[in-house]
This record gives sequence, structure tokens and C-alpha cells, in this order.
Amino acid sequence: TDWAEAVAAVRRWLPDGRILLVCHVNPDGDALGSMLGFAHGLRRLGARNVQATFPGPLDVPEPLREVPGIRWVIPEAEAWAEPDLLVTFDAASTERLGGLAGRLSTARDSVVLDHHASNPGFGAVRLVDPAAAATSVVVEQLLDRLDVPLDAEIAECLYTALTTDTGSFRFAATTPAVHQMAARLIATGIRPGEIAQRVFDTRPLGAVKLFGEVLGRCELDAEAAGGLGLCWTTATRADLEKHGQRPHVLEALIDSVRCVAEADVCVVLKEIGEDAWSVSMRSKGAVDVSRVAGLLGGGGHRAAAGFTGAGTPADVLAAIRSVLDESVIR
Ligand code: 5GP
Ligand code: MN
Ligand code: MN
Repeated sequence: TDWAEAVAAVRRWLPDGRILLVCHVNPDGDALGSMLGFAHGLRRLGARNVQATFPGPLDVPEPLREVPGIRWVIPEAEAWAEPDLLVTFDAASTERLGGLAGRLSTARDSVVLDHHASNPGFGAVRLVDPAAAATSVVVEQLLDRLDVPLDAEIAECLYTALTTDTGSFRFAATTPAVHQMAARLIATGIRPGEIAQRVFDTRPLGAVKLFGEVLGRCELDAEAAGGLGLCWTTATRADLEKHGQRPHVLEALIDSVRCVAEADVCVVLKEIGEDAWSVSMRSKGAVDVSRVAGLLGGGGHRAAAGFTGAGTPADVLAAIRSVLDESVIR
């Protein structure tokens, strides 16, 4: 990892350079928390020209609307066309930066902060640590190296990110270092109970009913992947409309599907357009779903990955099945 180059690239543009921060499309807690935690850090360093954005409509999921600094996020269209420094957060590939990917060539400097093993390597300076549980782990280390003292606002951002990507410290990436980082963050006075309730345990009644309907349609193929089992369900735009919900409420759906004991792999197909599906996959460990996703044009981690599928749900399922066996970890 290029820590020294990253520190130099940031310092070069302090205090007046135009620093553009970008996280991935449909941002989750790690994307927004990492980006805004770093934005707070830049302010502590005296940066006066900082923008934060992500591609697509400026539609921040409700659970993340209280992340400190969220009001700084501007629409993609207002972002500088030629920033001095571009910093990207939690984007596993340039596609995840949507229309902002072009800034990688128009920016004078670029630093990529990420933790996806599937990251192909882009940007001038690359801080990509596949061993990191979240991009916020990389952010914390960079802020340390920039001599930014941790405060409660930075901590709240980074803690939101860390709990999101570790599934509240349940996933395999939850190492001693993760708990040590959490301890440092909590010591600033943030309230983990309140953050968890907001981020994980708050949803409108319509979303609960929507989940009930979509979960009721789960299907199981216990024979898939040589008996490891595959469970899936489909959420359509009509489902969202019926219950008056916006697409991002579906992000938590996979957490209920992945409980199914009879399947190692679970899949949620979320309709995003005509014959177009945002596909989320999770594995209990026997299948590398980042391989499945990678073979189908997406990416992610071994136990959590996704891609964009085309055709009917049956077409998408067939595509997944066609690469499932070769994705079993041996
Ligand atoms: P989720 O299922 O929560 O949307 O995403 C799980 C993981 O898969 C995340 O780490 C995310 O980076 C990755 N992922 C999800 N969708 C896509 C996609 O369309 N393309 C790529 N490259 N990665 C994705
Ligand atoms: Mn993410
Ligand atoms: Mn992440």
C-alpha cells in the first residue's frame, strides 16, 4: 500500500486545492461513513475546498441520513469537472463510480481507498486492503498518518461504516483489530446503541410488510452447487410501489434470506428496470460468491457480492447456476 504517496497527495492540495470525494453508487454505510469521516478529517487539516458526492440521484437511505456531515453531500452534476485531487471510497471498480469515473482522468491526483479483493486497480495512488473489514479501516489508518486526531464526528462516521460492513461485528472479517478500532471509536463518546438502532433496527411499517411478502416468495433448491443449496427471492418495482417504498429499503432484505439453513448461497433479485436486476448474493462460506459475481460482470467479497443481471428472473438464476459449481471453494 502506498501510504506515503497518499499522504503526499493529500498534503499537496491543502488548504486550498479542490478536493473531490466520491463513494460508490447506491452508497451503503461503509461508502458514506468512510467518505464523510475523511471529509471531517480534511476539515481538521484546514481544507477549505472539499466536495463529497456519489453517482446517481441524491437519494440517501433514511438510516444514513444522520451520519455527521451528510448535508455536505452534493448532487453529482455539481461536482467539479477538474478537481485537483479525487479520492474514492469503497468503489470496487470504476463502474461503481458511474458518471464520475471520468474524474479519474481529469483530476490532477487521485487516491483510491477500498477493501474489495476484486478491485482491479485503478487511480494513481491505491490504498486497497482486501484484509480490511471495511473501507473505513483504511480511512482510519490514512487519517492517523495525516496526524488527524480522532473526534466524535469522525468516529460516528467510521463506526457506522465498520458496523455496516461487519454486519454488527458478526462476519468473518471481525478480527481483534476490528474490535480495537471499534473501542477507539467508542472511546470518543459516540453511542453505539443509538447508531445500531438507527442503522439496522428502524424501518417503516410498509417496508416490514414488503419484506413479509417478498420473503414469503423465497424458493429453495437444496441440490444446487452439489448439495450446498441455493435460496432466492425476487423483489419487483411493483412490490415497492404497492408498499410505498423506495429501492434502498431492499438492501436489508438479504439479511433475512441468508438465515435459511438449507442453503449455503442466497440471492435476492431486485428489479431496477426493464429486464434489469440488481443482484445481491451471500454465502455461508462454501461458495465464493465474488467469483460468481465476477464471472457475471460484478464483484464483491467471498461471502458478499453482487452484479447487474439481464432478462427474466429465470434467466438471471440460470446465469448464476451456470457458474455456481466452479465457484465452490475447494
Ligand atoms: P450488496 O449485496 O450489499 O449490494 O453488495 C455486496 C457486495 O457486493 C458489496 O461489497 C459490493 O461492493 C458488491 N457489489 C454489489 N453489487 C455490485 C455490482 O453491481 N458490481 C460490483 N463490482 N460489485 C457489486
Ligand atoms: Mn459498499
Ligand atoms: Mn465496504
